[in-house]
Amino acid sequence: MHDPHPCPLCRSLSTEWFRQDRRREYYRCRTCLLVFVKPDRFLPRDAEKAEYNLHQNSPTDPGYRKFLSRLFLPLREHLSPGARGLDFGCGPGPTLSVMFEEAGHAVALYDPFYAPDTSVLDNTYDFITASEVVEHLHRPGEELDRLWERLKPSGILGVMTQMVIDQEAFSRWRYKNDMTHVCFFSRETFAWLAARWQAEMIVADTDVILFLKSAGAQPPD
Ligand SMILES: [Zn+2]
Repeated sequence: MHDPHPCPLCRSLSTEWFRQDRRREYYRCRTCLLVFVKPDRFLPRDAEKAEYNLHQNSPTDPGYRKFLSRLFLPLREHLSPGARGLDFGCGPGPTLSVMFEEAGHAVALYDPFYAPDTSVLDNTYDFITASEVVEHLHRPGEELDRLWERLKPSGILGVMTQMVIDQEAFSRWRYKNDMTHVCFFSRETFAWLAARWQAEMIVADTDVILFLKSAGAQPPD
């Protein structure tokens, strides 16, 4: 039996044991179906950063650009000329932002480790990207809501993350073995989020979701 631990996305106390591997236990929320690791298994901040330092991605790497194009191309279709964006969790070698800038869009960067200027989070944007980010969030509910607030009416949030299929596939899934990955979304979890935000959700690829904010959404104060 496990002590009930509130879901870090929807705060529901209705969570259940989901799976265990050699290093960690995973729980699943019955409400939003997020699969998550309890906070006592989070890596210390310096160990987390050491792991990210190994991700030496760069805009000159064609393979990395191709990978990001699965988010870049469908998102770009929704942008007006000159739309301005935020790359949330840009990592040590910002590349998606470079691709948007080449297409004529100014992009601000934020990353808690590599671009920690939080003043960019005071602005609002026409589009926001979170590529390979949401699986790292320690407080996904709070952090994603804050991001959504930074989006202008008719804005678009593009998320790229590998998704949970089922328990069986999960047990063979290499994605969970990265100790910096602490929450795992499924299509159902994103649908829950879209309903919460009253957003239109588009599944653009197996690991790419777009959230469209309605034109009538109230801008943040
Ligand atoms: Zn939940």
